[in-house]
Amino acid sequence: MAVERRPETDHPLAVDRRTMLRGAALAAGGVLLGGVLGVSAAGPASASATPKVYTRADWKARAPKGGIQVLATGPTHIVVHHTATGNVSDTSTSHAAALSRSIQSYHMDSNGWSDTGQQLTISRGGHIMEGRDRSLQAIRDGKHVLGAHTANHNSHTIGIENEGTYTSTTPPGALMSALVDTCSWLCLVYRLDPQEAIVGHRDYNATSCPGDKLYSMLPQLRDDVGSRLREQLIHLSRQAGRELTLEELPSYPAVPSSERIATFYHGPAIGDLDTSL
Ligand SMILES: [Zn+2]
Repeated sequence: MAVERRPETDHPLAVDRRTMLRGAALAAGGVLLGGVLGVSAAGPASASATPKVYTRADWKARAPKGGIQVLATGPTHIVVHHTATGNVSDTSTSHAAALSRSIQSYHMDSNGWSDTGQQLTISRGGHIMEGRDRSLQAIRDGKHVLGAHTANHNSHTIGIENEGTYTSTTPPGALMSALVDTCSWLCLVYRLDPQEAIVGHRDYNATSCPGDKLYSMLPQLRDDVGSRLREQLIHLSRQAGRELTLEELPSYPAVPSSERIATFYHGPAIGDLDTSL
C-alpha cells in the first residue's frame, strides 16, 4: 500500500482516525448519519452530503444474470479506477447512461460476470451512476454489494470507475468534483478516514489503473474529502449547539435543549411539508 500519510490535525472537529477505522462496526449508524446530514442541506451548498446518483433504472440497465450478494458489513476502502476508455468530450447524461450500458454489456457478455463489476461510475461530465445492482440501496443501508473490480479485495472495497484513460492526461474538473462528492458521501456513510480509505486500484493489484495522472491526484483527493467532512461536522455542530466529533454524531437529529415538557407532547408531529392536520 503506497498510501501517503500525513500528521493528524489538532482541530477539535478533526476526524479521528481510530474512530473512522471502526467503519464496519459503525456502519449501521452511518445510514442514519446520512439522514441527519440531510438536515444540513439547508446550510452551505458544500454541506450537502448525498450527491445526485443516477439509478440503474435511469440508465436502463439490464437485469443481472445471477444473484447479487449484499454483505452486512460496509467496505473499509474506496478504490479509484479509470475505465480505460476514450477521453471523450461528450458531457451529457445520455452519454453517461450509454457508458454505463456499454460497461455492463462488456462485463456480462465478454467477462461473463453476473452484472457490472463496480458499484459506481462517474462520467467525464461528472454524472454519478449506480453500477452493480442494489449498490445504491446497500450504501444507504450501510451495507456492501459484493462487486468485481479489485482482485482478492472485493469483499471489503467499493469501486468507482472514472470514465477515461489517465496515464498521461488529467481528468476534467467536473469528474474530479463529482469524485470528491462521491468519496465524501461514502466516507460519511461508512465512517471512513479518507486518508486511509481512498486508494487506487494499483495499490492492490498489478495494474496501471487508475493511470499515473489520476493516481498522482489521490493525495489531493484525500485532502479535499477530509476538508469536506470537517465542513460538515462544523455545520452539524452549529445545529447541535456544541462541537461534535464524528464518533458522537447522533444517529437521529439532536434533541433540542429547549424542548418543552408537557403532557401528550412527544416532539414535532406536523411540519411545513405536511398537508393535513
Ligand atoms: Zn481498476
